[in-house]
Amino acid sequence: MQHPLAAVVDRIDPDALYRIPDLAGLLGLAPGSTHSLALSGWFPGAERERVPGAAGVRQVWTGAALIAAAGIDPPPLDHTRYAPSTLWRLGCGCDDCLAWHNTDSRDRRRARSDAAFPQQKRRQVLDLIAAGDVTSIVEAAERAGTSPGLVFGLANRDPAFRAALDEAANALCVGGDRCGRPIGYQAGCRGTACRRAHRPLTTPQPPLPRRQP
Ligand SMILES: [Zn+2]
Ligand SMILES: [Zn+2]
Repeated sequence: MQHPLAAVVDRIDPDALYRIPDLAGLLGLAPGSTHSLALSGWFPGAERERVPGAAGVRQVWTGAALIAAAGIDPPPLDHTRYAPSTLWRLGCGCDDCLAWHNTDSRDRRRARSDAAFPQQKRRQVLDLIAAGDVTSIVEAAERAGTSPGLVFGLANRDPAFRAALDEAANALCVGGDRCGRPIGYQAGCRGTACRRAHRPLTTPQPPLPRRQP
């Protein structure tokens, strides 16, 4: 694993002095995490100085010492001491951290799409469909001022919304005898019975050979 200072080494002035808050700022970490890392030997070459106006001493690094530290292989991370987000920011790519990161990114994506397609618009889409005011879910999405991608995306991951959408879309089947059969879908009906009867081709057709001139 690369030392996290390696990514910010060009912002370190070799002649300047750095203390824990400066180091935390450089790395984008909380001061507490930075302090723990210092205790575990991540930043060798510290000196000690008196805290002005207080009894204690604190660690201080020259920029040159930090630049040297950026080149070392960092000691192992004690995963019980840091938040998963801190471990990820430090560059840990172990299975646990990767799993955390994947879940975290998925949750963020969901939160963004929930914000983009809020409850009130969901209701509006379902009402438009159930009332038969539109001929497709796509049209309902557009009329409600949202995108079909958001509607189908939510239906994919939220079984309750999927069921409500299916239920509402029964009203889209107005093709009489043709509905509930593949021909209904082919005729353009996007009601629930027709969508269920529709089976997309599983094997794509190979492109036709070009005719030689
Ligand atoms: Zn890890
Ligand atoms: Zn139909």
